Amino acid sequence: MFDPNALLRTHLQKLVPYSSARDDYKGNEGVFLDANENPLGSITEEDWNRYPDPYQKELKARIAQIKGVRSENIFLGNGSDEPIDLLFRAFCEPGKDNVIINPPTYGMYKVSADINNVEAREVLLTADYDLDMEVIKSAVDENTKIIFICSPNNPTGNDVSLDKIEEVLRFFKGIVLVDEAYVDFTSRHSFALRLEEFPNLLVLQTFSKAWGLAALRLGMAFASEEILAILNKIKAPYNLSGLVQKTVLKALENLEKKDRMVDQILKNRESLGEALKQIPMIKTICPTDSNFFLVKLENASDVYKKLIEQKIILRDRSKVALCEGGIRITVGTEKENELLIKALKNLN
Ligand SMILES: *Cc1c(COP(=O)(O)O)cnc(C)c1O
Repeated sequence: MFDPNALLRTHLQKLVPYSSARDDYKGNEGVFLDANENPLGSITEEDWNRYPDPYQKELKARIAQIKGVRSENIFLGNGSDEPIDLLFRAFCEPGKDNVIINPPTYGMYKVSADINNVEAREVLLTADYDLDMEVIKSAVDENTKIIFICSPNNPTGNDVSLDKIEEVLRFFKGIVLVDEAYVDFTSRHSFALRLEEFPNLLVLQTFSKAWGLAALRLGMAFASEEILAILNKIKAPYNLSGLVQKTVLKALENLEKKDRMVDQILKNRESLGEALKQIPMIKTICPTDSNFFLVKLENASDVYKKLIEQKIILRDRSKVALCEGGIRITVGTEKENELLIKALKNLN
């Protein structure tokens, strides 16, 4: 049986967590003289003088409904960055333990590993941007605590093979993080629906992409109650502001708008893909399951710089392993995509 407590860093096994003001009384009505708050109100029009719910129960209940998972299997963080960092702090002994990442992939896994002084073992994806199972297996040792899998993958855009993800979940004895930041743009189901099957799985999703809430900073982690109990024990007590909790709860009344935006972006992705095919200097357009394209050209850095001069900003990935000549293009509005295509044609 998988037990995340057996992976926990030893000094955390006897940690006494911060107990917040409202741990002993759950009601909303009462005379609250426990937390040194200002009883008069706030300097703002709307009152924010009371500490927010440390476990974001209302918001989680709504997200549980939408995602078809139990509230108990949801952790909310200040962006996806927070659960990523908490996983390092919970499970990886600096200077001793290691994690495995699969470049080219999302840069934050390596940065977070570096910040925490944890070795990130890099196992390159295969030439078709899929997991290299043999090399992953040989890179794992008894100090490997987490394997990071990003699908759809950033910056390549594609989903990696489902059966390979399943294989990693079955053979690896540590935590498998599946980052689904772009899950709304792919046709496959979320791994968040399979937590029962894989006790060592943690799925990351975010409100930053399809939902259009990047500035609010709200990331979701879905995992077993045992894994989440550990994250909850070491997180900052009030890690999500009341403003974020309230704003997102309200926004979630508006599900149709998110669906409409995703439909529109998928439509724009289709037409942008067609238009990019007509640009001779673009040699490759990588297949995408996300809201961006990785394209390859001979003089990528020049093109990137010339477009910046015209205030069109793409992401230069040409120096990244396996992305030689690569530029990542986010699918924009119809208007933005037209401007990009026009600028590219003029560079020819
Ligand atoms: C954009 C992105 C995220 C989102 O991060 P937030 O901190 O939630 O904004 C996570 N993972 C990947 C792979 C991404 O590309």
